[in-house]
Amino acid sequence: MSKTKYLTQHCVSCNRDAKMEIRLVEGADSQVWYRCTRCHHSMMVDRSLQSAEPAAKPTRDSCIAYEPANKYDVGVSIYHTDWDDMGMVTSKERTSSGGNAIWVSFEKNGSRRLIENLQED
Ligand SMILES: [Zn+2]
Repeated sequence: MSKTKYLTQHCVSCNRDAKMEIRLVEGADSQVWYRCTRCHHSMMVDRSLQSAEPAAKPTRDSCIAYEPANKYDVGVSIYHTDWDDMGMVTSKERTSSGGNAIWVSFEKNGSRRLIENLQED
């Protein structure tokens, strides 16, 4: 018995989000057909070509503990001890006071600006 499922997906033919009928291909578990209920455009998605694992999330062990005096490269994962939060450095910035700052996308706190390369007098 086959069950028809629907999912809202972007239709390349309508060029908008549309309700898609999902059909699994028998004998080819990885292949899924999406059929647009608006324009009846069909497209096949081969799930075997997609990465089974989501992008690796940073773990506490792979993060560098954040210290204002340190410098960090874009793409590096850091751990903020006070916030108990991990995040990835997304960009760097020169502050108006001439210091350096990094923008970090934290898992819990969202995008935050932190001081880096802090020079103590
Ligand atoms: Zn369509």
